[in-house]
Amino acid sequence: MGQHSLSKSSFLKGIQCDKQLYLYKYHYDWMDKISESQQAIFTRGTNVGTLAQDLFPGGVTATEDPKKSDEAVKRTADLINQGVKVIYEAAFLFDDILVISDIIVKVKDEWFIYEVKSSTSISETYILDTSIQYYVLSNFGLNIKDISIVYINNQYIRNGELDIHSLFNVESVKQLVTGQQDIIKSETGKLKEVLNENAIPLVAIGTQCSTPYTCSFWGYCWKDVPEYSVFNIANLKIDKKFELYNKGYVKLEDVPVDYKLNVNQKMQVECYINNKTVIDKDAVKEFLAEIKYPIFFMDFETFMPAVPMFDNSKPYQQIPFQYSLHYQKDKDSLLEHYEFLADANGDPRIPFITKLLNDTKAKGTILVYNKAFEITRLKEIARDLPEFSGEIEERISQIVDLMIPFQKRYYYMPEMKGSYSIKYVLPALVPGLNYEELEIQEGGSASIAFESLYYETDIFKIEKTRNNLLEYCKMDTLAMVEVLNTLYKKI
Ligand code: SF4
Repeated sequence: MGQHSLSKSSFLKGIQCDKQLYLYKYHYDWMDKISESQQAIFTRGTNVGTLAQDLFPGGVTATEDPKKSDEAVKRTADLINQGVKVIYEAAFLFDDILVISDIIVKVKDEWFIYEVKSSTSISETYILDTSIQYYVLSNFGLNIKDISIVYINNQYIRNGELDIHSLFNVESVKQLVTGQQDIIKSETGKLKEVLNENAIPLVAIGTQCSTPYTCSFWGYCWKDVPEYSVFNIANLKIDKKFELYNKGYVKLEDVPVDYKLNVNQKMQVECYINNKTVIDKDAVKEFLAEIKYPIFFMDFETFMPAVPMFDNSKPYQQIPFQYSLHYQKDKDSLLEHYEFLADANGDPRIPFITKLLNDTKAKGTILVYNKAFEITRLKEIARDLPEFSGEIEERISQIVDLMIPFQKRYYYMPEMKGSYSIKYVLPALVPGLNYEELEIQEGGSASIAFESLYYETDIFKIEKTRNNLLEYCKMDTLAMVEVLNTLYKKI
């Protein structure tokens, strides 16, 4: 490990919060465990970074192991001295600050710097990221002609071979970055002072904990905040939550009765304090009148490859790969179950929609939970595969949203904790039925699991993952069946 005091990532952590920087440097093992979805985001970033190197082929990688930064800095200097024109992961040290630049390219006597991002726009953090690179590289003595951010062009539609020149946008940020140099100099100075302190900086939790990124020391700093607190009051602005917290009102029962909350927020607090359920039977009845047998309980799962894998798809397009359908012909009929899970060996959209349309031929209600999601996916398929658009429109016209009674608070229980997500509504309405026993417990994990199947070769792992996916999606529609039954019973 090199002996530098700041790196590009620790600088960005310090800009977010002094305490985060200090903990990252001296108490690294206190960091929260990296979740599966965070890991998937890191892996995606690495893969996109590697792909972007093809924009400038024939380069040499300077940093093989970021932990051995001294070696990487030396190798970068050697490569520059040898006249290498394209260097990937080039490492530089100046003023005790280490930066690793994704791609640097020499044209004549000048260098072009490229920072690769897997997102679809340029954020303020990316400007800071490139500003510190510019600070280190220019002071190191590199003659910089331009510095750019390479990011994903979300308007690119794949057709045939991947066209990486269309997949990526390359945008110069030199003007913005040069304007930041004085700030970088003073901020790096301040952060080095923070690191010279003998004690952890006294920083209270605040809006900085989640902006611009969720802090990796959340578990350490928030350990005294109860699991259910004023921070769980639904749709209350973050500054209001901290206003309450900083006055010592931490639990819901602490909130002063005259504190300004909207109707739903008041309901959430009062129902919790008095352990009271609220149900507007007339509104629920009116909602139920919309539902006609036969009923399909329908749920989709999707994944969003950053780099489009299939023709006629864009970066980060949500590609449906799975559905579960519970079907009930009439009130007293037995429940039937239909499902689809694509083989991870091609574009799932055609087999998905073909089977879905076939399985939902009966006229009646198609019940979903959060209709915006399923309707948007169906419209996207109709756009991409217009031969199915007529039948898709018919199905869309049959959709009713089971989320409405909970979103509109016709029915609210304290156990819902201010949420109308089915993950809260189900255990509140049907105690004992929940997602806790399942290997996959939410849609994000389902997406990661399915995408992994495209690269998995172990047949046992493939089978296990597919079974987990089927169990999870089935639970989503079974949950809807139970929620509807509960609504009928209550009326
Ligand atoms: S959780 Fe908040 S206060 Fe604690 S280190 Fe992170 S940003 Fe700073």
